[in-house]
Amino acid sequence: MKHNIVTGTAITVFALSGIIFWETGFVWLVFIAIALAYLAVTAYGSFKIQANYFLKSINTGKRKSIALTFDDGPDPETTPKILDILREKGVKATFFVIGKKAEKYPELLRRIDEEGHIVANHSYSHHTMIAFFSQENLARDLEHCTNVITEILGKTPKFYRPPFGVTNPRYARVLRELKLNSIGWSVRSLDTKAQNKYEIINRVMSKLKARDIVLLHDNRKVTADSMEDLIEHCLQKGLKIEPLSKMIQKEPYE
Ligand SMILES: [Zn+2]
Repeated sequence: MKHNIVTGTAITVFALSGIIFWETGFVWLVFIAIALAYLAVTAYGSFKIQANYFLKSINTGKRKSIALTFDDGPDPETTPKILDILREKGVKATFFVIGKKAEKYPELLRRIDEEGHIVANHSYSHHTMIAFFSQENLARDLEHCTNVITEILGKTPKFYRPPFGVTNPRYARVLRELKLNSIGWSVRSLDTKAQNKYEIINRVMSKLKARDIVLLHDNRKVTADSMEDLIEHCLQKGLKIEPLSKMIQKEPYE
């Protein structure tokens, strides 16, 4: 992974700089500059899932269509509204669900599945500090979500999206161990910050092109409000909306 290459390079540059600049008065400044650059690159790699810095995520599709993905549900208020529109429009999407919510609303999870959408793992806790979990706790959290989904639907998800899109070296090991594919996105709708549906529609439509994976949130009322227009705009632009599994040519369940 890129992280190992960057770390190896940083150590080498550090050692060489030590040799070259040791006799000068500014050797510590050189060391601090290298350390800061290393930290900046690592932070960028953690927050930018598309950088594939710690692990390889799937951020775009292989077909000339687009896929809609929803995180942070299921939500008893807004998820049904979104499902109604998707059904009406004949569109299949992917729902990256939070395990503890799926456990609370099993009927809703079943409805998502029965209506032909993909159910995927978005961790059990969606804890704000999940990126700082030990490898053991991270594995336990992700496996817990998988188990909740398997118990309700009788099938085991293989797609996973890290909460907040933050990754680290522990994720790389845990996802390999649990045989989960890391799924990112190529277009952020910024629906968690949008004040009205037009902000979502404008943002998505200004960026959208073939092969894009769009990130939305099904626990947001404004997202539900935007769905009908958003789908219409995609179709007007000649972009077909396909299930994520078809777009990335991978099976969504074990
Ligand atoms: Zn999330």
